[in-house]
Formats: sequence, C-alpha cells, structure tokens
Amino acid sequence: MASCGCRCIACGSAALGGREVGEAHPDGGRDIHHTCADCGAHFDHLEGDIFKSCAECGLGQD
Ligand SMILES: [Zn+2]
Ligand SMILES: [Zn+2]
Ligand SMILES: [Zn+2]
Repeated sequence: MASCGCRCIACGSAALGGREVGEAHPDGGRDIHHTCADCGAHFDHLEGDIFKSCAECGLGQD
C-alpha cells in the first residue's frame, strides 16, 4: 500500500504499489512510480504521467 496518499489517476483506486526510482533528491525525497492493483496503470507519483512501459520498473519490457 502506498503511504503517500496518492490515488490511481486512471480509476481512482487507493490500492497502489509504490517503487522508488532514480536518484535521491537533495531535499531527501525520491521519485516514486505507482502501479494500480485494480487496473494496472503505472504512473509517476509527482508528475502524474501514465507510462505504457517503464524501463525503471521493468514494466512492459520483453
Ligand atoms: Zn487504477
Ligand atoms: Zn504517490
Ligand atoms: Zn516505473
């Protein structure tokens, strides 16, 4: 369960997985990608972009 309070931007579900990606920011925060347990949408925690594939998390990579 995600601890940041995000909801899926595709279906509104709160059942999200979270994965830290990239480098740590100077302020101590990190970029997080979420995966929705209900609809499978994968999106950026801060920017809200939905990814069809993600090299960081290995999503959609064959
Ligand atoms: Zn969803
Ligand atoms: Zn989030
Ligand atoms: Zn990702």
